[in-house]
Amino acid sequence: MDLPERVGPRRDPTSFELGADRVQYLPFVIRRGRGRRDTPKDREDFVWIDRARHRARGYRPSQVLWLYDTRRRGTFAFQPRTRVATMYVCGVTPYDTTHLGHARTFLVFDVLARLLEVRGQRLRYAQNITDVDESILQRAARDKVSWRALGRREERAFLRDMKALDWRKPDAIPHATREIPAMIKLAERLRRRGFAYETPGGVYFDVAKFPRFGQLSRFSKAKMQRILASQDDARLDDPTRRSPIDFALWRRVSDGPTWPSPFGRGRPGWHLECSAMSARHLGFPIDIHGGGSDLIYPHHESEIAQSEAAHGLRKRFVGHWVHVAPMRLGGAKMSKSDGNMVFVREVLKKTTPQALRLYLLDVHYRRPFDHDEERLDRARERAEALGRSLGRGRLGPIERDASTQEVLGALDDDLHAERAIRALEKHARRDLSPDSMASLRTIARKVLGIL
Ligand code: ZN
Repeated sequence: MDLPERVGPRRDPTSFELGADRVQYLPFVIRRGRGRRDTPKDREDFVWIDRARHRARGYRPSQVLWLYDTRRRGTFAFQPRTRVATMYVCGVTPYDTTHLGHARTFLVFDVLARLLEVRGQRLRYAQNITDVDESILQRAARDKVSWRALGRREERAFLRDMKALDWRKPDAIPHATREIPAMIKLAERLRRRGFAYETPGGVYFDVAKFPRFGQLSRFSKAKMQRILASQDDARLDDPTRRSPIDFALWRRVSDGPTWPSPFGRGRPGWHLECSAMSARHLGFPIDIHGGGSDLIYPHHESEIAQSEAAHGLRKRFVGHWVHVAPMRLGGAKMSKSDGNMVFVREVLKKTTPQALRLYLLDVHYRRPFDHDEERLDRARERAEALGRSLGRGRLGPIERDASTQEVLGALDDDLHAERAIRALEKHARRDLSPDSMASLRTIARKVLGIL
């Protein structure tokens, strides 16, 4: 008996050549290899690549940026939801000088933004400044200065340090103290929708009402509790809340800076800030949300709960969660609270911004970075050598030659900047055509900023 051939989806690659003017969608297939095992679980997780459109922009199908998403624990093609991609990065609490850990984190997003933009992708990038926070208030009290003056001074110093590193400045830098009305509105909305409740101490998010809580960190409730207990904020928390992992949207406090609200005078919870400001400056949902990996829980987990609950639970808050691993010094995490820091300003006294960028980008962003003075010295020599072989000459369009493809391919593969730099160094020493050299120069200067 003859059975008709089973009709399946067309997988003929030549069909793209024919249909370049039509928009063609193919279900996205997860690449094999390390860290790409996760399969999409629900509709929202399904990523579609619009190959024809990429082609029309001059991309090859292989020139899609693949980016790791912490929530899905896998590497997925980056496809912005709208014509202008949106990226929100959790910024600094300005009460101390910029250390190498900050610089590394923000340079990862700087390279990500430059990589998208150099190929014509429009991007709107917002990064907040938490200018009111318990740590600022404590430091201001210790130093006997006003918290506003301290915050402003440290913010200026931070922006100066990042400018010295040729940072791609965000399009919006919202300040927590100037966005209190948006935060109050969000807290009210959550209370109206039944996701928040009031206690004598303030307003809390009811984690039990949000079934997806824990989707980002995948931590158990016990682990969440342990983390909360270890943080400074814990002592400020209210014992009357329904669950110990419920978090504050608003705290009624009488001392220090306070703002009026329908829940009484007080201060907003830290997580509320980023949910309110990302929606105000970038909309909902957003394509990329980033920060240091220490923010995964409780900060980003709580942001998801607030934003998705406020917007009806149907859509995911973020397409790609991008987290940068910590910077370490002598095996311990470099952090303000522990006081073991190496400052950008100090390092820039003895090396160039290009060399410091090369040094900080020389370890993949998802791996912890161990600060090493010897490697820093070597980075200076490497940047100088790159300057000698590639520095002089014109910038050119990004070509399709093998050397450019190797460098870009490393960046497109989950921002492997260290592989891209090594490929650049290798090809810059070779005798390439002027066009290829001009193309490599553009990547070194415009994307990596190491030339
Ligand atoms: Zn944040």
